[in-house]
Amino acid sequence: KTPTTSPSSSTKFTTRDRRYFFILSLSFRSDSMPSRRRTLLKVIILGDSGVGKTSLMNQYVNKKFSNQYKATIGADFLTKEVQFEDRLFTLQIWDTAGQERFQSLGVAFYRGADCCVLVYDVNSMKSFENLNNWREEFLIQASPSDPENFPFVLIGNKVDVDDGNSRVVSAKKAKAWCASKGNIPYFETSAKVGANVEEAFQCIAKDALKSGEEEELYLPDTIDVGTSNQQRSTGCEC
Ligand code: GDP
Ligand code: MG
Repeated sequence: KTPTTSPSSSTKFTTRDRRYFFILSLSFRSDSMPSRRRTLLKVIILGDSGVGKTSLMNQYVNKKFSNQYKATIGADFLTKEVQFEDRLFTLQIWDTAGQERFQSLGVAFYRGADCCVLVYDVNSMKSFENLNNWREEFLIQASPSDPENFPFVLIGNKVDVDDGNSRVVSAKKAKAWCASKGNIPYFETSAKVGANVEEAFQCIAKDALKSGEEEELYLPDTIDVGTSNQQRSTGCEC
């Protein structure tokens, strides 16, 4: 007799068999799934219109700068691969696409952020004063699980303008604000000449990674495939 290794075409599966196969396939999937380590880190950039958010992002990701003012770049985010020790991560940087004027950034923009970058223009007091609003708005919209310790990074941009002669916000003032909000890291940059941009984003990536890994601790280990129709909290809104 030759042993059969696969069911013949005439084999009929009962509903019960099918249910069994389905459950089997689920357990196979979870066994063979790659490690649940997060590799995607979401960073969002907030600040008044015109402070240089899009320019900073472009300088960091594409090493390019344009003097031309563009309110929108047409894409929601740019990505960049970053390496820490021997691990690779994808930094997903979300830009406001010009909507910051209308205060209409949807909840999808804020959801799941691992780090929030606040940007102001060192030549504009108004953009500095608005930082409180941007920070508050972020905390309300993103509602992170541990708001006290959520990583923010502050960037004072456009330090190149007029060789610093039109500057109205001092580094001291900016650092005092950072200290009052729980020691937010502070960088002064020029997206135009590319000064300090790489350094600022290194810090941003590091903070995002730290926050992403802490979040990972809250992920459930098992998936409940119970049949109850009751609403269950799965820890995500998908
Ligand atoms: P956003 O509205 O915050 O995204 O600002 P943009 O990146 O669109 O920049 C607004 C304007 O400021 C543009 O004309 C940029 O070319 C200019 N800009 C941005 N960053 C700098 C900078 O570091 N130095 C100078 N001189 N101009 C900048
Ligand atoms: Mg922009």
